[in-house]
Amino acid sequence: MPLPAITGLTPDALAAWLKEAGEPAFRAAQILEWVWQKKVSAISAMSNLPVKLRDKLSTSFRLSVLEHTHTQGSADTTRKLLFRLHDGRYVESVLIPANPALYGEQSDRRTLCVSSQVGCAYGCKFCASGLAGFTRNLDPAEIAGQVLAAEQLSGERVDNLVFMGMGEPLANLTNLFTAITLVTDAKTLHLGARHLTISTAGLVPQIRQLAEHPQQIRLAISLHGASDEVRRQIMPVNQKWPLAELIAALDYWNSRNKQQLTLEYILIHGVNDALEQARLLARLARRLHAKVNLIPYNKVLGLDWQRPPVAHCRAFREVLTNAGVAATLRLEKGGDIAAACGQLRLIQETQDGHSPNQPQA
Ligand code: SAH
Repeated sequence: MPLPAITGLTPDALAAWLKEAGEPAFRAAQILEWVWQKKVSAISAMSNLPVKLRDKLSTSFRLSVLEHTHTQGSADTTRKLLFRLHDGRYVESVLIPANPALYGEQSDRRTLCVSSQVGCAYGCKFCASGLAGFTRNLDPAEIAGQVLAAEQLSGERVDNLVFMGMGEPLANLTNLFTAITLVTDAKTLHLGARHLTISTAGLVPQIRQLAEHPQQIRLAISLHGASDEVRRQIMPVNQKWPLAELIAALDYWNSRNKQQLTLEYILIHGVNDALEQARLLARLARRLHAKVNLIPYNKVLGLDWQRPPVAHCRAFREVLTNAGVAATLRLEKGGDIAAACGQLRLIQETQDGHSPNQPQA
């Protein structure tokens, strides 16, 4: 195993390490500043630390766990970043400039779409990440490191995070919570919890756990079907946690959180786009005081699904707005770079000769 990452140490963990190493406590703030604010590229460059401490740090930690291998830009300047991990696997993050306030945040802010796992175990029928099966969880440094790397590479500050990249964030909850501490702490990147959105396929026990989290993190639900009949055809997770259980967990989340829930709904031609689904979705959104993001399906290589005609997408939205539900129709950015759906990583790993569904040692 390679050395652990210094970017995986929370301020508390770093303080404990320094104490153990017999170093004065004030070194923690210096190290954190080098890592998270000055974004130094080598431990040896932390020039206000004694050389002995730099040596000690260098023999105990790596600075970064993500090797940036590729940036793909698109016409609307959405950029997709591909990173190689120590085991030869890849993860991707998508940097979206001037996001039009989809999750309740302010507009004109840079949003980073972050991955939480290599692959995904939930097997949603329409999704590229599910196609390749599940490989492993990302550790806290690999999750939080995506934000640091995106800021380093772009030279810009990231304002919002959406956990909507590869993987199911709530299936990796412990590491996700540590990563959230790593990016929200005042001594690190100091992102506001209200600028973080976790998206889930609907893991009921973890939604309840998240409801009890002390920070006001936003929650988005990948609904994609407004009845069990429709949803279970495309999302196997619905067998385990059908809508009634999901809704009960969301009621609980609402009872403990001030943020407005978001329901995400991909529109797939002939699968979940009947106007009857829009009526059921409207009823559900009203009951949960949620807003709705409609996303015309983004084509995935090797899958047969299609997006409905734009006029039909608009008609679907109109059912929602007529019922008094706030609904956006997201003609998503980055479609030309196969962004946000695990496609770039799939292409890269296939080229590297990884078999899609076998975990790599
Ligand atoms: N596992 C989490 C987060 C990752 S997926 C979740 O399910 O929410 C992020 C979002 O992209 C989800 O809403 C997912 O359903 C959606 N998505 C997946 N494949 C897509 C595609 N081909 N076109 C449009 N959206 C897609």
